[in-house]
Amino acid sequence: MSDYVANLLKEKSIYFNYQGNDLTVKCLNPDHDDSNPSMRIDKTTGAFHCFSCGFKGNIFRYFGVLTNQSFLKVAKLKEKIAQLKIDKEGLEIPPVAIPYPRTFRGISVATLKRFDAFYLPGESKEMRGFEDRIIFPIRDITGKIRSFQGRHTLSSGSPKYLNWPSNVSLLPYPCTFPARHSSIVMVEGWFDALNCIDKGLENTVCTFGTNTLQKDTKSKLLPYKMQGINKIFLMFDGDDAGREAAKKLKPLIEELEFTVEIIELEDDSDPGGMSQEYIDSIKEYINAK
Ligand SMILES: [Zn+2]
Repeated sequence: MSDYVANLLKEKSIYFNYQGNDLTVKCLNPDHDDSNPSMRIDKTTGAFHCFSCGFKGNIFRYFGVLTNQSFLKVAKLKEKIAQLKIDKEGLEIPPVAIPYPRTFRGISVATLKRFDAFYLPGESKEMRGFEDRIIFPIRDITGKIRSFQGRHTLSSGSPKYLNWPSNVSLLPYPCTFPARHSSIVMVEGWFDALNCIDKGLENTVCTFGTNTLQKDTKSKLLPYKMQGINKIFLMFDGDDAGREAAKKLKPLIEELEFTVEIIELEDDSDPGGMSQEYIDSIKEYINAK
């Protein structure tokens, strides 16, 4: 971890706090009389932003320290290497975690258990903001935990979903299946996938949003190819965003020599809200293919 930004602030006698990947300080805008620290500074790049008055910039440029970009690049590279190391080693479920004991939004305890759903009893130092959430480890093909996703347990809770690490590149999940399938059904969200899996559509995979898979499609779909998957059904939400994303993704996936079929859902319906009967009918349709 680079300390360039922290050192610069110390040198300038600016008091700061650490907050995740940022440092927080009182706003540097001379016109903003900031009583609470409203400004965040990226601890690596020095980019700053005041969320109260909107003042933006870069701390190195602000203090006239930045003569060339090279040391910034080194800092970024170091950060990247540290990240790769995390990726390689995998993350661990915090020791204080408690297995989620109840059904959640109609999803059975058995399915929640199968995917290691847990909650944190109060605030956690490692995973800030994950209290009051049902949390799932997201594993790669080797079984290592690459990230966590937490959903607020209150429907009014905000934000609804939180990922940790917050800047993680999300891979489709799950990557492996209990039984061998030749096709998978891709849905947008993790709770869409959970609902389908819970109701017997075992080969459902979550893409974590409509746009995530449009980047690095090849490397993200490789684990499925390796497992003998040759057909992908895209079952995104029955709204404009879902339909457009499916249309955009189809040719990208076909380039990788998968057969792609779009399952278009009725207006305003999504796989997370599907009934047992509906999922049974989809299963039947897919098996007939
Ligand atoms: Zn400000």
